[in-house]
Amino acid sequence: MVKELETGFKNFRATYFEKKGKILQKLAKDGQSPKTMVICCSDSRVEPSMLFGTGPGDLFIVRNVANLVPPFTSKNSVSTGAALEYAVKNLRVKDIIVLGHAHCGGVAALCKKINNKEVDTKDQLTDFIESWVDIAKPALSEIDFNDKKENIEVNSERAVVVYSYNNLLSYPWIYNAINKQILEIHAWWLDFKSVTLWKKAKESDAFEPMEF
Ligand SMILES: [Zn+2]
Repeated sequence: MVKELETGFKNFRATYFEKKGKILQKLAKDGQSPKTMVICCSDSRVEPSMLFGTGPGDLFIVRNVANLVPPFTSKNSVSTGAALEYAVKNLRVKDIIVLGHAHCGGVAALCKKINNKEVDTKDQLTDFIESWVDIAKPALSEIDFNDKKENIEVNSERAVVVYSYNNLLSYPWIYNAINKQILEIHAWWLDFKSVTLWKKAKESDAFEPMEF
């Protein structure tokens, strides 16, 4: 696979650089000034640049397992918090999008943990995964785990997106920037099987398909 990456880079340099070399040179000289931040899962099937047709310099991206934004006061907020702080205070992005997705292994791990009554929470099976996804446990308090499997999956993934979205508001400089109307935040959920994009409704936590 590494060989394929090397070939991929060679092709990138030969083709992309030929066409967009000026943009890359400008980015190197002037620095980056992306207007949009995306917080998405580490999942290899979620590729923001490919999905949204963007290029170098367009998106400031944070990827982590299950697209989580921990609450501002959480001890786990350091990594994502640092990226958010830089994006809002230095880059002054205009939009932050929390992008969740279908068949999320991270959210499934959290659901499994909540449902596995035999495993004591202190007796974790993984070094990091369970304690990381546990951040979003409050998001699943109203999920009906007796529902159909696919409903549990979709509802949990969307609830986690809404949880991250709401947690953005706990960061004082994000809250202030929204109040000043210089920043907007968004909660989206991607179904890559049907290639549909859904967004949280303005006045509720329901998701509606985005029409194109
Ligand atoms: Zn995921």
